[in-house]
Amino acid sequence: MKLVFATHNNNKLKEVQALIPPQISLVSLTDIGCLEDIPETSNTLEGNAKLKADYVTQKYNLPCFADDTGLLVNALNGAPGVFSARYAGEQKSSEDNMTKLLSELDSKKDRTAKFQTVIALNLNNESLFFEGIVEGEITTHKHGQKGFGYDPIFKPKGYKQTFAELPLQVKNDISHRGIATKKLISHLQKLF
Ligand code: IMP
Repeated sequence: MKLVFATHNNNKLKEVQALIPPQISLVSLTDIGCLEDIPETSNTLEGNAKLKADYVTQKYNLPCFADDTGLLVNALNGAPGVFSARYAGEQKSSEDNMTKLLSELDSKKDRTAKFQTVIALNLNNESLFFEGIVEGEITTHKHGQKGFGYDPIFKPKGYKQTFAELPLQVKNDISHRGIATKKLISHLQKLF
């Protein structure tokens, strides 16, 4: 089956592609010629994921899924959460976002946090949602070059390295997106 993953983020695409079985032909927004930035105007992860998946299905008449992710920091009452991409401003810079978060946590003892991903699937005009959560903590400095976004400052629980220091396969085994994607795949496999 042909399935669109509605993202312009090549890192997300690489992570998800590594989990997708051969029966599913994953295509990206670039592959279908969708170059526009799909508006994410909801104030929930579910809402934004659904907006992106529905946009593609309606415009291109293809089954589609999209993810939306937030980093929820306990000492900041769940911020930046659904606003993680724009935490330090509309430029959506990961460097600026991490710098702001490290500075906000400067005086805090509790550095625990979690990543939460919601995947929305639009298939046969039905919406389904799959969630993944990984607990961890925010480090005091950036470590590692792999991954993207907040990866250099997020250390998953039980690990000594940040997501940016761990190989993609290890991140996929335990991450928010890996967990949500595996739930999506096991749902799709029931349909084959
Ligand atoms: P979105 O899901 O693309 O809207 O992501 C929201 C924010 O979280 C962006 O700043 C992303 O860079 C960041 N983000 C999303 N997924 C991850 C991840 O797996 N690791 C680190 N940061 C992420």
